[in-house]
Amino acid sequence: MYKIIQQRNKCIGCNACVEAAPQRWGVSRIDGKSVLVGGVDKRGMFNVSIPDWEYEENLRAKVNCPVHIIDIIKL
Ligand code: SF4
Repeated sequence: MYKIIQQRNKCIGCNACVEAAPQRWGVSRIDGKSVLVGGVDKRGMFNVSIPDWEYEENLRAKVNCPVHIIDIIKL
């Protein structure tokens, strides 16, 4: 199991995370920033636990994020 953490306020809405892991990321029609599906807001840091099989595609999302606001830690 892993935890994804996104510092959402710095998102520039580039869509790279959505392309890498479309089941876990979407784009808000309200503010154009990405939305971490299932994410819980803890003072602007959105986080969610994911199963191992989701790790690879979300690692791609992390690596491809141009502003480096996605982090993934092993639980
Ligand atoms: S890759 Fe990063 S900057 Fe781009 S939409 Fe996703 S979280 Fe936002």
